[in-house]
Amino acid sequence: MKDIIQLLPDHVANQIAAGEVVQRPASVVKELLENAIDAGATSIKLIVKDAGKTLIQVIDTGMGMSTTDARLSFERHATSKIKAAEDLFNLHTKGFRGEALASIAAIAHVELKTKTEASEIGTKISIEGSTVTEQEPAVVPQGTTISVKNLFYNIPARRNFLKSDTVETRHIIDEFHRVALAHPSVAFTMTHNGNDVFNLPESNERQRIVNIFGTKTNEKLVPVTEETEILTIDGFVFKPEFARKSRGEQFFFVNNRFVKSPYLHHAVLSAFEGLIKPGTHPGYFLFLNVDPKSIDINIHPTKTEIKFDDEHAMYAMLRATIKHSLGQFSIAPVLDFNK
Ligand code: ADP
Ligand code: MG
Repeated sequence: MKDIIQLLPDHVANQIAAGEVVQRPASVVKELLENAIDAGATSIKLIVKDAGKTLIQVIDTGMGMSTTDARLSFERHATSKIKAAEDLFNLHTKGFRGEALASIAAIAHVELKTKTEASEIGTKISIEGSTVTEQEPAVVPQGTTISVKNLFYNIPARRNFLKSDTVETRHIIDEFHRVALAHPSVAFTMTHNGNDVFNLPESNERQRIVNIFGTKTNEKLVPVTEETEILTIDGFVFKPEFARKSRGEQFFFVNNRFVKSPYLHHAVLSAFEGLIKPGTHPGYFLFLNVDPKSIDINIHPTKTEIKFDDEHAMYAMLRATIKHSLGQFSIAPVLDFNK
């Protein structure tokens, strides 16, 4: 029989990878915001039109890219963030897969403008469906502006299955919250269809939470802090009286990365046992910092799942720390739940 196996062309491989990385406009927002953070931006602007279906633009004041790097950034597995396999166990950046820009450019019309501090003049690149249509010098400020237009223009099935603008915008705002909460010292703005949605000045954790969720949030917060050899915890839980039927604000960050962890969530719930009505949920914003060597984040393309070396220790410490913090704020158990 004849040999029948062949390597897929890059643009096809990119499109396949895009299927995993880019589920919806919010996935693009996440990837672009994280790239801006990794570039050391102190100010990040997000501009969205039609729930990201028409335009997602991120403007940052980060380090920018050289002309060669600007072109390479759209290649698959092209990254400045790791060099060798062992770097995977010592990650200090959000990105490392080198897949986001290649994936996004495979399924949208992308324009990149960028300039480093060292270069006089910047670069502009236009790319559509993995094909570069234009590359030229451009007069731009230091930093990077990426515009992603007509997402899924070449995958009608995906485009048609996008939800309403309200739902897709909700997802975008969720991603925006996660990055903005994890980086309070960075200024963020977001506009949607020309309207201001967020204007978050450079601040601290508490102030960032209040700026996002409203001034009433301030009185709800109980600070949580603990430092051990393997883990530092800081952040806030809501006072038990503010537990609600809907899940509301529940955020875990590990090394400044938003993660979903049903296991740690359970640890928080168990610390609230006896303090809140069954079926209600406490709000929390918890920032865990661990040695990057003790976690594995390379489990899922969106990097929201995490494996800890010692899960049980994390659970026990988190639970004890929250119990202690709630106790310090002299919150006695509410025994009569019918009041
Ligand atoms: P990753 O973030 O996993 O490295 P990406 O595809 O998201 O992969 O980006 C590829 C590379 O492009 C990055 O490693 C980085 O060097 C560069 N890059 C992307 N976005 C920016 C940005 N906003 N500012 C500076 N460099 C960027
Ligand atoms: Mg990235």
